[in-house]
Amino acid sequence: MPNLMVDRYGRKVTGLRIALTPRCNLKCIYCHHEGEIDPQREIPAEMAINAARAAADLGVRSLKFTGGEPLLRQDLESLISQMPQELDISLTTNGIFLAEQAQDLAEAGLDRLNISLDSLKPGTYRAITGGRKGDLERVLAGIDAAKGAGLEPIKINVVVLKKNEPQIPDLIEFSRQKGMILQLIELLDLRGLGISGDIERIERGLQEWADRITMREMHRRKKYFIDGAEVEVVRPMDNTEFCAHCTRLRITSDGKIKPCLLRSNNLIDIGTCDREKIKELLQKANDLREPYFGKNVISDK
Ligand code: SAM
Repeated sequence: MPNLMVDRYGRKVTGLRIALTPRCNLKCIYCHHEGEIDPQREIPAEMAINAARAAADLGVRSLKFTGGEPLLRQDLESLISQMPQELDISLTTNGIFLAEQAQDLAEAGLDRLNISLDSLKPGTYRAITGGRKGDLERVLAGIDAAKGAGLEPIKINVVVLKKNEPQIPDLIEFSRQKGMILQLIELLDLRGLGISGDIERIERGLQEWADRITMREMHRRKKYFIDGAEVEVVRPMDNTEFCAHCTRLRITSDGKIKPCLLRSNNLIDIGTCDREKIKELLQKANDLREPYFGKNVISDK
């Protein structure tokens, strides 16, 4: 049994999120860039592999690749194939290049996917994703290819904005028909854009319509089951329960361990460290973990 990382608030670390690149083919109007400020390089494959192996040694069970856009990494398949077998490996993508890659990614060992899809209307989709490269048809083809390749469960990520709020019922119906989980995400409005939709109002509606409501351990996220649809709501803002049940560490696209999405301090550079040394650094990062909202809340687990 590996040594588990548990911080001084009693929170276990069971997930690692690695940003594989700061590069992205889209320019989403709200993007938080995974909390990164001016990354200076792209994480080398060997560093990502060593970090994942070190994390697995310390009891991490799930690994998520993010970015930037992870599908822009030319070596993505090779990277996935070298990840520890015992980890559940997923990635979050805008899906534009997914149709071409889904089958190969599945064969390399990818288990499942989150696909960002903020609208089913081409005009709204382009307006949110920053212009002409936001080709909705390609994302829809990518979603079908991912399903065909068996990359399930697939989660459709929607950041709730004023622009797409009226379209949420259509997105619920789309996910139901495709047999996918819809994940409604509260906007982290770090730049004070004022473009956020009213997720509280949406959640009140879900509460009324739901046949059944469950709660996930991670972040205490609520899941609503509505007539065959499965809708998960992610609400980090001012949410002490969310932080008290956070189980993640992150690695930035330039190879630094980041204990919290919302904090830019306490970054630990992996440099050229080997697996054993990275284990020490991960434990050090674990010691630095602090809930962003509700510092004094102690988890009951
Ligand atoms: N390019 C990939 C994608 O589109 O999924 C991975 C990177 S993106 C930063 C990862 C996820 O973060 C996406 O689902 C995106 O919608 C979400 N995201 C980005 N900025 C956000 C913000 N300000 N608030 C909430 N979620 C955000």
